[in-house]
Amino acid sequence: MPALLPTLPSAGRRAQAGALDAGAPRRYRRAVGAPDPPPSVDALARSIADVGLPAPLLVDAARAAIAAGDPAGARARAEARRRSLLHPVINATGVLLHTNLGRAPLPVAHPASAFNLELDLETGRRGDRRAHAASLLARLTGAEAALVVNNGAAAVLLALAALAAGRAVVVSRGELVEIGGGFRIPEVLSASGAHLVEVGTTNRTRASDYAGALAVAGEGALVLKVHQSNYRTVGFTAAVAVRALADLGVPVVADLGSGLLDATTPWLPGGPPAWLASEPAAHQTLSEGAALVTFSGDKLLGGPQAGVLAGRRELVERCARHPLARALRPGTHVLAALQEVLLAYLRRDAAAIPFWRMATTPLAELERRAAELAAATGWQRRACRALPGGGALPGVAIDSVGLAAVGDHRGALRRGEPPVVARMEGSETLCDLRSVDPAEDAALAAVLKGAVAGG
Ligand SMILES: *Cc1c(COP(=O)(O)O)cnc(C)c1O
Repeated sequence: MPALLPTLPSAGRRAQAGALDAGAPRRYRRAVGAPDPPPSVDALARSIADVGLPAPLLVDAARAAIAAGDPAGARARAEARRRSLLHPVINATGVLLHTNLGRAPLPVAHPASAFNLELDLETGRRGDRRAHAASLLARLTGAEAALVVNNGAAAVLLALAALAAGRAVVVSRGELVEIGGGFRIPEVLSASGAHLVEVGTTNRTRASDYAGALAVAGEGALVLKVHQSNYRTVGFTAAVAVRALADLGVPVVADLGSGLLDATTPWLPGGPPAWLASEPAAHQTLSEGAALVTFSGDKLLGGPQAGVLAGRRELVERCARHPLARALRPGTHVLAALQEVLLAYLRRDAAAIPFWRMATTPLAELERRAAELAAATGWQRRACRALPGGGALPGVAIDSVGLAAVGDHRGALRRGEPPVVARMEGSETLCDLRSVDPAEDAALAAVLKGAVAGG
């Protein structure tokens, strides 16, 4: 029996369904030369129960197949519906943080239990949602306080709405970015009620540009610095560092995007990898004078989908009191998963954070796995380059090893159990092992073998 056991119709309904499509009516139709009637929706749905969907979804598939004049296609429709639901896949794209695959992979075990989400166990009084994950974020970034919301976009929106509605927000023209998925800084600014004041040019912005705008910006203005997460300006360029912006006399909010907590990566035994060099980190940006930083939980931080605001207590409090904070707050599952990841950072246990484990796996280890998988599957070992992904670190690639087969096998791999998502490299299908957890190697081998054997 499948894991998702569909609710079978009662015996009474079954008998009724049988009476509708079998026996005398069919004999009668044959006798008068009429075509067979379509099977009943219920009978057809029951015949595909092994697909493993709940009965109402099997009935939908059966009904749609009959309506399309293709009752035999009911099974394929039900299979397609099942495959459209969320389930684990093997990310063999080599993009470690793949937005279409849920960004940072994370094991989440959550007991069906109550949690001290907003209860102070010392006093028995109402507690603070910021006592757990948010307080660890403050500890890790050196911030006075922090707040967790649903994603990075929500963090930026909340910061601007709470701190700058009706006020001027000064942004460099080189930082009016689009992140993807419709997140555009000018549009978020306008949704927050703040007034965008653009300064400088696409390639060059100077401190005097900011100072000139602030001189006429009025009370309560702030500077927003946005990290160019997913592109680079090169050539004749100039930008103003946070340290210099902090001297302008208004709060600097820095949208960092990726959520690198500390540029010195104390959680990595070998120190920061070379490819991390140009990525701004929360701890350093705050100590350089930013009043508030915002970032994602599921990019380089390697946690669940979440957004973080961290910085001066007074500003974080204003964000927490804004009505949007209530609308944008995550639930216990997310906070608990984030807390686990943050505790791993504090224990300096990068191996417990899947993103950092993938990103820092030694090449020799990938070579060893590739040799075993090649022997088991007939696919060829290939040197390749993985990408951090998640809209972070454009142009950065990490040496990696994959398995390749001539031709485009991506469709067959996606239809595997579990589905495998690979990429094309020239005329070959490539499965990059850096984004695959070693625990998935056996399942990957089975799908690789099946895909090429099946064409
Ligand atoms: C990714 C990113 C965001 C949006 O974060 P999400 O978690 O994807 O909502 C905002 N700003 C910057 C600079 C980013 O890189």
